[in-house]
Amino acid sequence: MGDEAPNTERGVVTRFAPSPTGFLHIGGARTALFNYLYARHHGGRFLLRIEDTDRVRSTDAAVAAILDGMRWLDLDWDGDAVMQFARSARHAEVARGLLASGGAYKCFATADELEAMRAAQRAAKQPLRYDGRWRDRDPAEGGGAPYVVRFRAPRGGHATIADKVQGNVTVADDELDDMVLLRSDGSPTYMLAVVVDDYDMGVTHVIRGDDHLNNAFRQRALIEALGWPEPVYAHIPLIHGADGAKLSKRHGALGVDAYRDELGMLPEAVENYLLKLGWGHGDDEFIRRPQAIEWFDLDGIGRGPARFDAKKLAHVNAHYLRLADDARLVDLIAPRVEAALGRALSDTDRALLQRGMGELKLRAGDLVELATSSLFYVRTRPIAVDADAQRLIDEAAARDLIATVRAALAEADWTAAAIEAAVRGVADAAGVKLGKVAQPLRAAVTGSATSPGLFEVLDLLGRDEALGRLDDVIIREPHA
Ligand code: GLU
Repeated sequence: MGDEAPNTERGVVTRFAPSPTGFLHIGGARTALFNYLYARHHGGRFLLRIEDTDRVRSTDAAVAAILDGMRWLDLDWDGDAVMQFARSARHAEVARGLLASGGAYKCFATADELEAMRAAQRAAKQPLRYDGRWRDRDPAEGGGAPYVVRFRAPRGGHATIADKVQGNVTVADDELDDMVLLRSDGSPTYMLAVVVDDYDMGVTHVIRGDDHLNNAFRQRALIEALGWPEPVYAHIPLIHGADGAKLSKRHGALGVDAYRDELGMLPEAVENYLLKLGWGHGDDEFIRRPQAIEWFDLDGIGRGPARFDAKKLAHVNAHYLRLADDARLVDLIAPRVEAALGRALSDTDRALLQRGMGELKLRAGDLVELATSSLFYVRTRPIAVDADAQRLIDEAAARDLIATVRAALAEADWTAAAIEAAVRGVADAAGVKLGKVAQPLRAAVTGSATSPGLFEVLDLLGRDEALGRLDDVIIREPHA
Protein backbone atom coordinates (compact mmCIF):
# COMPACT_ATOMS: atom_id res chain seq x y z
CA MET A 1 0.00 0.00 0.00
CA GLY A 2 1.19 3.49 -0.76
CA ASP A 3 2.34 5.69 2.06
CA GLU A 4 1.36 9.29 2.40
CA ALA A 5 3.91 10.45 -0.13
CA PRO A 6 1.90 12.80 -2.36
CA ASN A 7 1.07 15.37 0.26
CA THR A 8 3.23 15.03 3.34
CA GLU A 9 4.95 18.30 2.56
CA ARG A 10 1.68 20.17 2.97
CA GLY A 11 0.66 19.04 6.44
CA VAL A 12 -2.49 17.09 7.02
CA VAL A 13 -5.79 18.68 6.02
CA THR A 14 -8.99 16.66 6.27
CA ARG A 15 -12.56 17.65 5.65
CA PHE A 16 -16.07 16.54 6.39
CA ALA A 17 -18.34 17.24 3.46
CA PRO A 18 -21.97 16.50 4.30
CA SER A 19 -24.84 17.09 1.91
CA PRO A 20 -27.46 19.06 3.87
CA THR A 21 -30.46 16.99 2.87
CA GLY A 22 -31.29 15.73 6.36
CA PHE A 23 -30.00 15.52 9.90
CA LEU A 24 -26.45 14.56 10.84
CA HIS A 25 -26.92 10.83 10.95
CA ILE A 26 -24.80 8.39 12.85
CA GLY A 27 -22.71 7.38 9.82
CA GLY A 28 -21.97 10.98 8.95
CA ALA A 29 -21.02 11.70 12.54
CA ARG A 30 -18.54 8.83 12.47
CA THR A 31 -17.00 10.12 9.23
CA ALA A 32 -16.70 13.57 10.79
CA LEU A 33 -15.11 12.09 13.91
CA PHE A 34 -12.53 10.11 11.96
CA ASN A 35 -11.57 13.17 9.93
CA TYR A 36 -11.40 15.25 13.08
CA LEU A 37 -9.21 12.76 14.93
CA TYR A 38 -6.90 12.21 12.01
CA ALA A 39 -6.29 15.93 11.60
CA ARG A 40 -5.80 16.49 15.32
CA HIS A 41 -3.51 13.49 15.62
CA HIS A 42 -1.24 15.01 12.98
CA GLY A 43 -1.55 18.57 14.23
CA GLY A 44 -3.29 19.38 10.95
CA ARG A 45 -6.51 21.10 10.00
CA PHE A 46 -10.04 19.73 9.98
CA LEU A 47 -12.35 21.56 7.59
CA LEU A 48 -16.09 21.52 7.05
CA ARG A 49 -17.72 21.86 3.65
CA ILE A 50 -21.46 21.90 3.18
CA GLU A 51 -22.22 20.30 -0.20
CA ASP A 52 -25.37 22.19 -0.96
CA THR A 53 -25.30 22.04 -4.75
CA ASP A 54 -28.50 20.00 -4.88
CA ARG A 55 -30.71 23.06 -4.64
CA VAL A 56 -33.91 21.08 -4.37
CA ARG A 57 -32.94 18.76 -1.56
CA SER A 58 -30.61 21.02 0.45
CA THR A 59 -32.29 22.97 3.24
CA ASP A 60 -31.20 25.58 5.76
CA ALA A 61 -32.72 23.47 8.51
CA ALA A 62 -30.48 20.56 7.55
CA VAL A 63 -27.40 22.81 7.55
CA ALA A 64 -28.36 24.03 11.02
CA ALA A 65 -28.94 20.45 12.23
CA ILE A 66 -25.54 19.36 10.95
CA LEU A 67 -23.70 22.26 12.58
CA ASP A 68 -25.66 21.69 15.79
CA GLY A 69 -24.75 17.98 15.79
CA MET A 70 -21.08 18.77 15.16
CA ARG A 71 -21.05 21.25 18.04
CA TRP A 72 -22.79 18.83 20.36
CA LEU A 73 -20.13 16.23 19.59
CA ASP A 74 -17.52 18.93 20.07
CA LEU A 75 -16.04 18.36 16.62
CA ASP A 76 -14.76 21.85 16.14
CA TRP A 77 -13.71 22.55 12.61
CA ASP A 78 -11.04 25.02 11.57
CA GLY A 79 -12.10 28.24 9.88
CA ASP A 80 -15.54 28.91 8.47
CA ALA A 81 -17.65 26.18 6.91
CA VAL A 82 -17.28 26.33 3.12
CA MET A 83 -20.59 26.47 1.25
CA GLN A 84 -20.13 24.62 -2.00
CA PHE A 85 -22.86 26.24 -4.06
CA ALA A 86 -21.42 29.69 -3.41
CA ARG A 87 -18.28 28.57 -5.24
CA SER A 88 -20.02 27.64 -8.50
CA ALA A 89 -18.26 30.35 -10.50
CA ARG A 90 -14.87 28.99 -9.45
CA HIS A 91 -15.91 25.44 -10.38
CA ALA A 92 -17.06 26.60 -13.80
CA GLU A 93 -13.83 28.53 -14.31
CA VAL A 94 -11.82 25.34 -13.78
CA ALA A 95 -13.97 23.50 -16.32
CA ARG A 96 -13.48 26.30 -18.85
CA GLY A 97 -9.74 26.09 -18.29
CA LEU A 98 -9.82 22.40 -19.07
CA LEU A 99 -11.89 23.10 -22.16
CA ALA A 100 -9.27 25.57 -23.34
CA SER A 101 -6.43 23.13 -22.74
CA GLY A 102 -8.19 20.21 -24.39
CA GLY A 103 -8.76 18.30 -21.15
CA ALA A 104 -12.47 18.70 -21.71
CA TYR A 105 -14.70 19.08 -24.74
CA LYS A 106 -18.12 20.29 -25.77
CA CYS A 107 -20.78 17.68 -26.30
CA PHE A 108 -23.79 18.73 -28.32
CA ALA A 109 -25.69 15.46 -28.04
CA THR A 110 -29.36 16.11 -27.33
CA ALA A 111 -31.32 14.41 -24.58
CA ASP A 112 -33.24 12.37 -27.18
CA GLU A 113 -30.02 11.30 -28.84
CA LEU A 114 -28.54 10.15 -25.51
CA GLU A 115 -31.71 8.29 -24.62
CA ALA A 116 -31.54 6.44 -27.97
CA MET A 117 -27.88 5.64 -27.26
CA ARG A 118 -28.76 4.18 -23.86
CA ALA A 119 -31.71 2.23 -25.28
CA ALA A 120 -29.38 0.61 -27.79
CA GLN A 121 -26.89 -0.20 -25.02
CA ARG A 122 -29.64 -1.71 -22.92
CA ALA A 123 -30.83 -3.81 -25.85
CA ALA A 124 -27.27 -5.04 -26.45
CA LYS A 125 -26.90 -5.71 -22.71
CA GLN A 126 -23.99 -3.30 -22.56
CA PRO A 127 -23.23 -1.02 -19.64
CA LEU A 128 -24.86 2.37 -20.01
CA ARG A 129 -22.08 4.82 -20.77
CA TYR A 130 -21.64 7.91 -22.81
CA ASP A 131 -19.97 6.66 -25.97
CA GLY A 132 -17.68 9.65 -26.58
CA ARG A 133 -19.47 10.72 -29.76
CA TRP A 134 -18.27 14.35 -29.45
CA ARG A 135 -14.86 13.55 -28.03
CA ASP A 136 -13.03 13.99 -31.30
CA ARG A 137 -15.50 16.02 -33.29
CA ASP A 138 -14.98 19.58 -34.31
CA PRO A 139 -17.10 21.69 -31.93
CA ALA A 140 -17.89 24.00 -34.83
CA GLU A 141 -20.23 21.26 -36.02
CA GLY A 142 -22.39 21.93 -33.01
CA GLY A 143 -23.17 25.39 -34.28
CA GLY A 144 -24.94 27.53 -31.72
CA ALA A 145 -26.77 24.60 -30.10
CA PRO A 146 -26.66 24.08 -26.34
CA TYR A 147 -23.83 21.86 -25.13
CA VAL A 148 -22.44 20.31 -21.99
CA VAL A 149 -18.72 20.24 -21.15
CA ARG A 150 -17.39 16.74 -20.71
CA PHE A 151 -14.15 15.58 -19.18
CA ARG A 152 -11.77 13.92 -21.65
CA ALA A 153 -11.15 10.89 -19.43
CA PRO A 154 -8.08 8.72 -20.02
CA ARG A 155 -8.61 5.72 -22.29
CA GLY A 156 -7.11 2.29 -22.63
CA GLY A 157 -5.21 2.08 -19.35
CA HIS A 158 -6.22 1.57 -15.80
CA ALA A 159 -5.92 3.42 -12.53
CA THR A 160 -5.04 2.15 -9.09
CA ILE A 161 -5.94 3.85 -5.88
CA ALA A 162 -3.83 2.87 -2.88
CA ASP A 163 -6.69 3.29 -0.46
CA LYS A 164 -5.68 3.39 3.18
CA VAL A 165 -8.56 1.17 4.17
CA GLN A 166 -9.52 -0.78 1.06
CA GLY A 167 -5.96 -1.48 -0.07
CA ASN A 168 -5.04 -1.26 -3.75
CA VAL A 169 -8.11 -0.96 -5.91
CA THR A 170 -7.76 -0.96 -9.69
CA VAL A 171 -10.32 0.12 -12.26
CA ALA A 172 -9.94 0.03 -16.04
CA ASP A 173 -10.24 3.46 -17.68
CA ASP A 174 -12.84 2.11 -20.05
CA GLU A 175 -15.24 1.51 -17.21
CA LEU A 176 -15.55 5.26 -16.74
CA ASP A 177 -17.15 7.40 -19.39
CA ASP A 178 -16.54 11.07 -20.09
CA MET A 179 -18.46 12.66 -17.27
CA VAL A 180 -20.20 15.99 -17.53
CA LEU A 181 -18.40 18.87 -15.82
CA LEU A 182 -20.69 21.71 -16.84
CA ARG A 183 -24.37 21.29 -17.65
CA SER A 184 -25.91 23.02 -20.64
CA ASP A 185 -26.95 25.93 -18.41
CA GLY A 186 -23.29 26.35 -17.43
CA SER A 187 -23.75 25.01 -13.89
CA PRO A 188 -20.99 22.77 -12.54
CA THR A 189 -21.61 19.17 -11.58
CA TYR A 190 -21.06 17.74 -8.14
CA MET A 191 -18.05 15.66 -9.23
CA LEU A 192 -16.25 18.76 -10.49
CA ALA A 193 -17.15 20.78 -7.42
CA VAL A 194 -15.69 18.17 -5.03
CA VAL A 195 -12.38 18.08 -6.88
CA VAL A 196 -12.01 21.85 -7.10
CA ASP A 197 -13.03 22.42 -3.50
CA ASP A 198 -10.72 19.74 -2.13
CA TYR A 199 -7.86 21.31 -4.06
CA ASP A 200 -8.64 24.89 -3.11
CA MET A 201 -9.09 23.89 0.53
CA GLY A 202 -5.74 22.10 0.46
CA VAL A 203 -7.25 18.76 1.46
CA THR A 204 -4.55 16.11 1.75
CA HIS A 205 -6.65 13.20 3.07
CA VAL A 206 -10.10 12.24 1.89
CA ILE A 207 -11.71 10.05 4.55
CA ARG A 208 -15.32 9.15 3.73
CA GLY A 209 -17.81 6.34 3.29
CA ASP A 210 -16.91 3.59 0.84
CA ASP A 211 -20.02 4.40 -1.17
CA HIS A 212 -17.76 7.09 -2.68
CA LEU A 213 -15.01 4.73 -3.80
CA ASN A 214 -16.27 4.69 -7.39
CA ASN A 215 -16.39 8.47 -7.41
CA ALA A 216 -12.77 8.52 -6.30
CA PHE A 217 -11.67 7.08 -9.66
CA ARG A 218 -13.48 9.79 -11.59
CA GLN A 219 -12.19 12.42 -9.21
CA ARG A 220 -8.57 11.36 -9.31
CA ALA A 221 -8.60 11.24 -13.13
CA LEU A 222 -9.77 14.84 -13.12
CA ILE A 223 -7.18 15.77 -10.50
CA GLU A 224 -4.47 14.27 -12.68
CA ALA A 225 -5.67 16.13 -15.76
CA LEU A 226 -5.52 19.35 -13.77
CA GLY A 227 -2.01 18.56 -12.59
CA TRP A 228 -3.06 18.81 -8.97
CA PRO A 229 -1.72 16.64 -6.11
CA GLU A 230 -3.74 13.52 -5.45
CA PRO A 231 -5.05 13.23 -1.91
CA VAL A 232 -4.63 10.13 0.20
CA TYR A 233 -7.89 8.21 0.13
CA ALA A 234 -9.43 6.25 2.98
CA HIS A 235 -12.86 4.85 2.20
CA ILE A 236 -14.42 3.53 5.36
CA PRO A 237 -16.98 0.72 5.32
CA LEU A 238 -20.55 1.82 5.85
CA ILE A 239 -22.36 1.00 9.04
CA HIS A 240 -24.73 -1.94 8.98
CA GLY A 241 -27.39 -2.99 11.44
CA ALA A 242 -26.86 -5.86 13.87
CA ASP A 243 -28.65 -8.10 11.36
CA GLY A 244 -26.11 -7.29 8.65
CA ALA A 245 -28.45 -5.19 6.52
CA LYS A 246 -27.54 -1.65 5.58
CA LEU A 247 -28.28 0.63 8.50
CA SER A 248 -31.74 2.11 8.43
CA LYS A 249 -34.06 3.84 10.87
CA ARG A 250 -35.24 0.46 12.05
CA HIS A 251 -31.75 -0.19 13.43
CA GLY A 252 -31.53 3.09 15.28
CA ALA A 253 -30.04 5.11 12.44
CA LEU A 254 -31.29 8.35 13.88
CA GLY A 255 -29.91 11.83 13.70
CA VAL A 256 -27.43 12.59 16.44
CA ASP A 257 -30.00 15.05 17.80
CA ALA A 258 -32.26 12.09 18.57
CA TYR A 259 -29.49 10.43 20.57
CA ARG A 260 -29.25 13.62 22.56
CA ASP A 261 -32.92 14.59 22.87
CA GLU A 262 -34.92 11.38 22.71
CA LEU A 263 -32.46 8.84 24.07
CA GLY A 264 -30.69 11.13 26.54
CA MET A 265 -27.16 10.14 25.56
CA LEU A 266 -24.00 11.97 26.52
CA PRO A 267 -21.87 13.24 23.61
CA GLU A 268 -18.73 11.57 24.92
CA ALA A 269 -20.57 8.23 24.92
CA VAL A 270 -21.76 8.64 21.34
CA GLU A 271 -18.24 9.67 20.36
CA ASN A 272 -16.64 6.70 22.09
CA TYR A 273 -19.13 4.33 20.55
CA LEU A 274 -18.68 5.75 17.04
CA LEU A 275 -14.93 5.66 17.42
CA LYS A 276 -15.04 1.98 18.23
CA LEU A 277 -17.46 1.32 15.40
CA GLY A 278 -15.06 0.25 12.70
CA TRP A 279 -11.85 1.33 14.41
CA GLY A 280 -10.02 -0.52 17.12
CA HIS A 281 -7.14 -0.06 19.49
CA GLY A 282 -6.48 -3.42 21.10
CA ASP A 283 -9.15 -4.32 23.60
CA ASP A 284 -9.66 -0.81 24.85
CA GLU A 285 -13.35 -0.17 25.19
CA PHE A 286 -13.50 3.22 26.81
CA ILE A 287 -11.36 5.80 25.09
CA ARG A 288 -11.56 9.49 25.88
CA ARG A 289 -10.84 12.27 23.43
CA PRO A 290 -7.15 12.90 24.29
CA GLN A 291 -6.34 9.20 23.96
CA ALA A 292 -8.35 8.95 20.77
CA ILE A 293 -6.33 11.81 19.28
CA GLU A 294 -3.11 10.17 20.37
CA TRP A 295 -4.00 6.75 19.03
CA PHE A 296 -6.14 7.35 15.97
CA ASP A 297 -4.74 6.18 12.68
CA LEU A 298 -6.14 4.91 9.41
CA ASP A 299 -4.53 1.49 9.84
CA GLY A 300 -6.87 0.71 12.72
CA ILE A 301 -9.97 1.02 10.52
CA GLY A 302 -11.44 -2.38 9.68
CA ARG A 303 -12.39 -3.37 6.15
CA GLY A 304 -15.56 -5.20 7.04
CA PRO A 305 -18.85 -3.38 7.54
CA ALA A 306 -19.26 -2.07 11.06
CA ARG A 307 -22.28 -3.37 12.96
CA PHE A 308 -24.38 -0.91 14.83
CA ASP A 309 -25.37 -2.24 18.23
CA ALA A 310 -27.82 -0.12 20.21
CA LYS A 311 -27.29 -2.20 23.36
CA LYS A 312 -23.58 -1.58 23.31
CA LEU A 313 -24.14 2.13 22.85
CA ALA A 314 -26.47 2.09 25.87
CA HIS A 315 -23.79 0.29 27.87
CA VAL A 316 -21.16 2.87 26.90
CA ASN A 317 -23.57 5.64 27.80
CA ALA A 318 -24.25 4.22 31.26
CA HIS A 319 -20.51 4.07 31.80
CA TYR A 320 -20.03 7.75 30.97
CA LEU A 321 -23.04 8.71 33.02
CA ARG A 322 -21.37 7.19 36.09
CA LEU A 323 -18.20 9.17 35.36
CA ALA A 324 -19.94 12.46 34.66
CA ASP A 325 -19.64 15.41 37.00
CA ASP A 326 -22.69 15.75 39.27
CA ALA A 327 -23.26 19.45 38.65
CA ARG A 328 -23.11 18.91 34.90
CA LEU A 329 -25.69 16.14 35.16
CA VAL A 330 -28.02 18.40 37.10
CA ASP A 331 -27.74 20.95 34.30
CA LEU A 332 -28.38 18.29 31.70
CA ILE A 333 -31.48 16.85 33.35
CA ALA A 334 -32.88 20.20 34.53
CA PRO A 335 -34.99 20.88 31.39
CA ARG A 336 -36.54 17.41 31.56
CA VAL A 337 -37.20 17.66 35.29
CA GLU A 338 -38.70 21.12 34.91
CA ALA A 339 -40.95 19.93 32.12
CA ALA A 340 -42.17 17.06 34.28
CA LEU A 341 -42.75 19.31 37.30
CA GLY A 342 -44.28 22.10 35.28
CA ARG A 343 -42.15 24.65 37.10
CA ALA A 344 -38.60 25.94 37.27
CA LEU A 345 -36.09 24.39 39.65
CA SER A 346 -35.01 26.56 42.56
CA ASP A 347 -31.42 26.76 43.75
CA THR A 348 -32.40 24.57 46.69
CA ASP A 349 -33.85 21.99 44.30
CA ARG A 350 -30.67 21.98 42.26
CA ALA A 351 -28.51 21.61 45.35
CA LEU A 352 -30.65 18.68 46.48
CA LEU A 353 -30.42 17.00 43.09
CA GLN A 354 -26.70 17.48 43.07
CA ARG A 355 -26.31 15.86 46.47
CA GLY A 356 -28.44 12.93 45.38
CA MET A 357 -26.70 12.62 42.03
CA GLY A 358 -23.83 10.42 43.21
CA GLU A 359 -26.31 7.60 43.84
CA LEU A 360 -28.84 8.43 41.16
CA LYS A 361 -26.35 8.27 38.30
CA LEU A 362 -25.29 4.75 39.26
CA ARG A 363 -28.80 3.51 38.63
CA ALA A 364 -29.62 5.22 35.33
CA GLY A 365 -28.63 4.31 31.78
CA ASP A 366 -29.37 7.66 30.19
CA LEU A 367 -30.52 11.18 30.93
CA VAL A 368 -34.16 10.30 30.39
CA GLU A 369 -34.02 7.66 33.11
CA LEU A 370 -31.88 9.90 35.28
CA ALA A 371 -34.37 12.74 35.08
CA THR A 372 -37.27 10.42 35.87
CA SER A 373 -35.55 8.80 38.81
CA SER A 374 -34.47 12.19 40.20
CA LEU A 375 -37.92 13.70 40.17
CA PHE A 376 -39.06 12.52 43.56
CA TYR A 377 -36.44 14.68 45.28
CA VAL A 378 -37.98 17.87 44.00
CA ARG A 379 -41.65 17.05 43.73
CA THR A 380 -44.08 19.27 45.58
CA ARG A 381 -46.11 17.68 48.39
CA PRO A 382 -48.24 15.69 48.34
CA ILE A 383 -46.00 13.81 45.93
CA ALA A 384 -47.28 11.55 43.17
CA VAL A 385 -47.26 7.88 44.17
CA ASP A 386 -47.06 5.23 41.47
CA ALA A 387 -49.13 2.04 41.45
CA ASP A 388 -46.44 -0.26 42.88
CA ALA A 389 -45.69 2.17 45.68
CA GLN A 390 -49.38 2.61 46.42
CA ARG A 391 -49.73 -1.16 46.81
CA LEU A 392 -46.95 -1.17 49.40
CA ILE A 393 -48.59 1.64 51.31
CA ASP A 394 -51.96 -0.09 51.17
CA GLU A 395 -50.68 -3.35 52.62
CA ALA A 396 -52.08 -4.38 55.99
CA ALA A 397 -50.30 -2.62 58.87
CA ALA A 398 -48.16 -0.52 56.49
CA ARG A 399 -49.78 2.77 57.51
CA ASP A 400 -49.44 1.93 61.19
CA LEU A 401 -45.76 1.17 60.70
CA ILE A 402 -45.28 4.41 58.80
CA ALA A 403 -46.96 6.32 61.61
CA THR A 404 -44.72 4.62 64.17
CA VAL A 405 -41.63 5.40 62.14
CA ARG A 406 -42.81 8.99 61.78
CA ALA A 407 -42.96 9.31 65.54
CA ALA A 408 -39.52 7.72 65.98
CA LEU A 409 -37.97 9.91 63.28
CA ALA A 410 -39.42 13.05 64.81
CA GLU A 411 -37.21 12.33 67.82
CA ALA A 412 -34.09 11.22 65.90
CA ASP A 413 -31.03 13.23 64.99
CA TRP A 414 -31.16 13.94 61.26
CA THR A 415 -28.20 11.90 60.02
CA ALA A 416 -28.32 8.80 57.84
CA ALA A 417 -26.99 6.69 60.74
CA ALA A 418 -29.52 7.98 63.29
CA ILE A 419 -32.34 7.62 60.77
CA GLU A 420 -31.34 4.05 60.12
CA ALA A 421 -31.20 3.27 63.83
CA ALA A 422 -34.70 4.70 64.31
CA VAL A 423 -36.17 2.69 61.45
CA ARG A 424 -34.47 -0.51 62.61
CA GLY A 425 -35.75 0.14 66.10
CA VAL A 426 -39.33 0.25 64.83
CA ALA A 427 -38.89 -3.00 62.89
CA ASP A 428 -37.38 -4.75 65.91
CA ALA A 429 -40.09 -3.54 68.26
CA ALA A 430 -42.79 -4.72 65.84
CA GLY A 431 -41.02 -8.05 65.37
CA VAL A 432 -40.84 -7.69 61.56
CA LYS A 433 -38.00 -7.71 59.09
CA LEU A 434 -36.52 -4.33 58.16
CA GLY A 435 -37.99 -4.58 54.66
CA LYS A 436 -41.53 -4.68 56.04
CA VAL A 437 -40.96 -1.20 57.38
CA ALA A 438 -38.51 0.13 54.82
CA GLN A 439 -40.59 -0.68 51.73
CA PRO A 440 -43.76 1.23 52.66
CA LEU A 441 -41.54 3.96 54.03
CA ARG A 442 -39.70 4.21 50.73
CA ALA A 443 -42.99 4.22 48.86
CA ALA A 444 -44.27 7.07 51.01
CA VAL A 445 -41.14 9.17 50.78
CA THR A 446 -40.25 8.65 47.10
CA GLY A 447 -43.59 7.65 45.55
CA SER A 448 -41.85 4.64 44.04
CA ALA A 449 -40.96 1.08 45.03
CA THR A 450 -37.34 1.61 44.00
CA SER A 451 -35.00 4.43 44.86
CA PRO A 452 -31.47 5.13 46.00
CA GLY A 453 -30.67 4.06 49.58
CA LEU A 454 -33.60 4.97 51.80
CA PHE A 455 -31.63 6.41 54.69
CA GLU A 456 -29.62 8.66 52.41
CA VAL A 457 -32.80 9.81 50.70
CA LEU A 458 -34.40 10.70 54.03
CA ASP A 459 -31.25 12.45 55.11
CA LEU A 460 -31.07 14.53 51.93
CA LEU A 461 -34.73 15.44 51.93
CA GLY A 462 -34.39 16.93 55.40
CA ARG A 463 -36.55 16.39 58.44
CA ASP A 464 -39.46 18.70 57.56
CA GLU A 465 -39.92 17.47 54.04
CA ALA A 466 -39.51 13.80 54.97
CA LEU A 467 -41.94 13.94 57.90
CA GLY A 468 -44.38 15.96 55.79
CA ARG A 469 -44.37 13.27 53.10
CA LEU A 470 -45.08 10.63 55.76
CA ASP A 471 -47.95 12.71 57.11
CA ASP A 472 -49.42 12.97 53.62
CA VAL A 473 -49.57 9.19 53.41
CA ILE A 474 -50.80 8.57 56.95
CA ILE A 475 -53.77 10.87 56.55
CA ARG A 476 -54.55 9.88 52.96
CA GLU A 477 -57.32 7.36 52.56
CA PRO A 478 -56.23 3.95 51.27
CA HIS A 479 -57.13 3.37 47.64
CA ALA A 480 -60.31 1.38 47.16
N1 GLU B 1 -21.37 15.04 0.19
C1 GLU B 1 -21.04 13.65 0.21
C2 GLU B 1 -21.96 12.93 1.14
O1 GLU B 1 -22.60 13.54 1.97
C3 GLU B 1 -19.61 13.41 0.66
C4 GLU B 1 -18.65 13.60 -0.44
C5 GLU B 1 -17.22 13.43 -0.07
O2 GLU B 1 -16.91 13.22 1.13
O3 GLU B 1 -16.40 13.54 -0.96
O4 GLU B 1 -22.08 11.73 1.05
